Amino acid sequence: MSDAVVCLPSLHALNALPGVTARFFGRMTGVDVMRERREAMALLAPYHRQLLQREGLDGFPLITAEQVHGNEIAFLENAEAYTQVPIRGVDGLATTQQGITLGIYVADCAPVWIVAKDGSAGALLHSGKKGTELGITTRGITLLCERAHLKPDKLMIVIGPCIRPPCYEVDFAATIRAQAASSGVSEVHDDLVCTACHSDLYYSYRRECGLTGRMLATLTLQPRPS
Ligand SMILES: [Zn+2]
Repeated sequence: MSDAVVCLPSLHALNALPGVTARFFGRMTGVDVMRERREAMALLAPYHRQLLQREGLDGFPLITAEQVHGNEIAFLENAEAYTQVPIRGVDGLATTQQGITLGIYVADCAPVWIVAKDGSAGALLHSGKKGTELGITTRGITLLCERAHLKPDKLMIVIGPCIRPPCYEVDFAATIRAQAASSGVSEVHDDLVCTACHSDLYYSYRRECGLTGRMLATLTLQPRPS
């Protein structure tokens, strides 16, 4: 199962920020996920729990989003208030709160991490073709800057593995990079990894015709003395 924890230079950059833990759990070998979303997710849940435990994140509540391919983002101020997960109607989660784990599931859509370089705030978004068209990354940057009182140049953005040309006709990752740049975020990391090109490591909704699993992206601001 160790191969399920994806290591990429962009994730190393995030994890080098103070108190920031970002993970991306890829394809789980030996789990038959050629199924509809709900069933595949149920099969993967115990594996994801085990991986979170192994990564030392099991002590933190995992807050997830309904993910409706929209551009709404929940700003979590009091995680105890969010016992009902996934949070309805949102595709993004943002917080300044330490000791909770934000989780987004993807299979071809991009996970987008937006994190303050001082580790004081972070957001995790689900941005596929639709969410990108709706500008969820731009909204995420604005929201974090407003709520956490930050300037865009204090943020780092990471675009995770997602489907890209020529496997997909729309280069939404390029649009996300452009959105970040026009919002004033200069530090954007993208390893340009295509999920459909690496079916040994990732699930691809398109390549597997909709019957596949989901990768779990996470972001945790670790509790640290203030
Ligand atoms: Zn590809």
